[in-house]
Amino acid sequence: MDAVIVGGGIGGLAVAAGLHRRGWGVTVLEQTAGFDVAGSAISLWPNAFRALNAVGVTGELGERIGVAGGLRDYRGRWIVRMDSGEAVTHTAGAVIAHRHDLRSALLGHVPAASRMAGVRVRSVRLVGERAVVSHDGGELTADLVIGADGVHSVVRAFVSPAEPRYAGHTAWRMVLPRPTSVDGTASWAETWGPNAVFGMFPMSDNRVYCYGTGAVEPGQHSSDGELAELRRRFAGWCEPIPAVLAAATEELVLRHDIHTLPPLGTYVRGPVALLGDAAHAMVPYLGQGGCQALEDAATLCVAVETQPDLATALRRYDELRRPRTRAMARKSSQSGFVGHLSWAPARVARNALLRAMPTSMFVRSLARPFSWRPEDGLVEVTPIRPAM
Ligand SMILES: Cc1cc2nc3c(=O)[nH]c(=O)nc-3n(C[C@H](O)[C@H](O)[C@H](O)COP(=O)(O)OP(=O)(O)OC[C@H]3O[C@@H](n4cnc5c(N)ncnc54)[C@H](O)[C@@H]3O)c2cc1C
Repeated sequence: MDAVIVGGGIGGLAVAAGLHRRGWGVTVLEQTAGFDVAGSAISLWPNAFRALNAVGVTGELGERIGVAGGLRDYRGRWIVRMDSGEAVTHTAGAVIAHRHDLRSALLGHVPAASRMAGVRVRSVRLVGERAVVSHDGGELTADLVIGADGVHSVVRAFVSPAEPRYAGHTAWRMVLPRPTSVDGTASWAETWGPNAVFGMFPMSDNRVYCYGTGAVEPGQHSSDGELAELRRRFAGWCEPIPAVLAAATEELVLRHDIHTLPPLGTYVRGPVALLGDAAHAMVPYLGQGGCQALEDAATLCVAVETQPDLATALRRYDELRRPRTRAMARKSSQSGFVGHLSWAPARVARNALLRAMPTSMFVRSLARPFSWRPEDGLVEVTPIRPAM
């Protein structure tokens, strides 16, 4: 069997690695010249590592250092502090990885002969039972075509047309050497202010990953650069945020307007399937968009391995992935809404409620999605009978 995968991002490379491992012929078509990724970081939670394992990527992303920390208000008062044993246990299987490292790990499992860089796909159509992909340089036909081409997917037009929507927020991200102002675990937090959020978390090699979000008109850029904009927006916030921004340089700052998709009626049409942001782009407030792309890839690979034929595998993929990703998108939106409240009395009430909640309850609700397994819904697990 053979597959053409449109898009060589996280999801596309993961599914290519997993199918190749299962004996499929794969071709990945990527529009950038060298499978380039924006050079920032990504939080990978335990569900993502189970998915990576299912597609054959293990151990390449280094030590899993955990993402313990907490939530603060912008004056620096803790709302939730997750430095308890339980929080550390639940997040110990997570890591903030550099996107370049994740991409390199995935690329290492996709043969060079399977990768076509600098190729832009234009459309997909059916000829008989097979799918045909038209790209800049010609056409390719395959048993299975996977649209892993991101939120502005062209493959989606064939499967389930839908227009991305601007979420009303933009995000700035950067990875920088850990400044001296960042001392100890008290700095690791997501900080909530009026209609804005700033996060700061540790990475390997003494680096720090920071992100800031805020309400901005789509595409609106400040004339003096993104770092100046960030410094203005977060000027009155608690330390070490202003100190970290003072230590940053303009070329480190990446900015992305956040786009989401409405729920699609299906992720599959015939032998064409959508995966990752092409199917379910969501706001990033739970750090799960990429993890869900990896889950999609793992589910698709386990489905083609365990189901009697491709059509059944794709039907099961659709049945399993739509509810899961829809729930995650909804939770991410809720989390973004709660974190970006701007009306002061609402923020005070929110903070009081969260402070009153036992940390263990907060941690458990955060960690609930992590229990996902690639074989869920696809492989029957025989219960172990107690010995007579
Ligand atoms: C600010 C921000 C922070 C985030 N933080 C996290 C996080 O901490 N954890 C997490 O799990 N997720 C996070 N996400 C979400 C995550 O980045 C995405 O969900 C993930 O990158 C989706 O992967 P993908 O492979 O589906 O799509 P993409 O990464 O968008 O890859 C699509 C690929 O397809 C290529 N392509 C597009 N069109 C074509 C075409 N016509 N022909 C050929 N190639 C094409 C593109 O060049 C690209 O390489 C964040 C997102 C944002 C915006």
